[in-house]
Amino acid sequence: MRSICLRLVTVTSEVKKKYKLKGLTLEELKDYFIGIGEQKFRGKQLFNWMYNHLSTDFDDMLNFPKDLRNKLKDHANLISLSIVDSKVSTETGTKKFVFQTEDGNKIESVVIPEERRNTLCVSTQVGCPLDCKFCATGLMGYTKNLSSGEIFDQYLLAAQDLGKDKLTNIVYMGMGEPLLNFESTVKSLKIFSEEITSGINLKKITVSTAGISPKIIELADLNLKVKIALSLHSCFEDIRSKIMPINKKYPLKESIEAVKYYAKKTGTRITFEYIMLKNLNDRNEDLNALIKLSRAIPSKINVIPFNSLKHMNPSGFSAELEPTPKKEIEAFVQNLRNNDVTVLVRFTQGDDIAAACGQLAIKY
Ligand code: SAH
Repeated sequence: MRSICLRLVTVTSEVKKKYKLKGLTLEELKDYFIGIGEQKFRGKQLFNWMYNHLSTDFDDMLNFPKDLRNKLKDHANLISLSIVDSKVSTETGTKKFVFQTEDGNKIESVVIPEERRNTLCVSTQVGCPLDCKFCATGLMGYTKNLSSGEIFDQYLLAAQDLGKDKLTNIVYMGMGEPLLNFESTVKSLKIFSEEITSGINLKKITVSTAGISPKIIELADLNLKVKIALSLHSCFEDIRSKIMPINKKYPLKESIEAVKYYAKKTGTRITFEYIMLKNLNDRNEDLNALIKLSRAIPSKINVIPFNSLKHMNPSGFSAELEPTPKKEIEAFVQNLRNNDVTVLVRFTQGDDIAAACGQLAIKY
């Protein structure tokens, strides 16, 4: 009995010790192989298998000698997420995936089909700590940061499901705040940045942030050249603090300075996301402030109709939020355009399957 128990303990700790390779960057994989007494070039081969051929089984890797494949099976694993559910919107073709992490947490990703592109929206955290008053994910609270493997696997599993060449763009706009999970977010971007990974160029990747200014600057200095979207939603500190409590810690003034630096350093244009909230940010002074801001920074404004959270029975300030009526959004946008502001209106996608922006919250 004792020996069985001892064996079980050893076996369990061996399973635990298995090294997770999914989510490692090219440099890290090379180091891993050197660390297990193999040659560095194996790192590039494994990188190619995992992220280009979407392989999840060492036995696929026929350019590895059998001994090495067995050694990898003993030492390491390629596990990350599993698909537990998916739904397609009959209205728009938007597809929502529900993934489960190895530790049993559920996260969501969405594929948004458009005329000339298919955008995958990935999550970076389970839930979100920011508590933005207009956001469904905020209402569910925060559980944990995702690992780089869990972030990248959302792409791999969606690519496997839809066909590898189908996805053209990635937006980090799902559940969570990417810049509060900086290390894993950057690692996943570094994997995308390698030529052998996929057809997705970093220029087609947008990281959306509520404005974690020191991290925006750090990202600028890494020079990865991904695009940044700032969830703006109001140009006024007091209103922004009311709908986005994180504004008290990182005031808009600092976030604006940070994205200005980002635009200059990387030569990219900033996207300002702007959810239209009735009587809160759709007034004349809001319009004028937006015009002024877009003259100061190379940018475009992404106007977003507010997806109501009424189905979640929100309390407090969240319960008071109303969408700006469509006609008024149109007039607001026209007014911006008349002042030479570049504006995109983000059509609500996947409303019928709760896969629209700000509706990502697991209902399990
Ligand atoms: N934490 C990051 C990324 C997640 S939110 C950020 O704040 O940018 C992704 C986008 O969805 C943001 O632009 C956010 O403002 C928007 N969004 C959130 N809730 C929404 C809602 N109820 N209706 C429409 N858009 C929403």
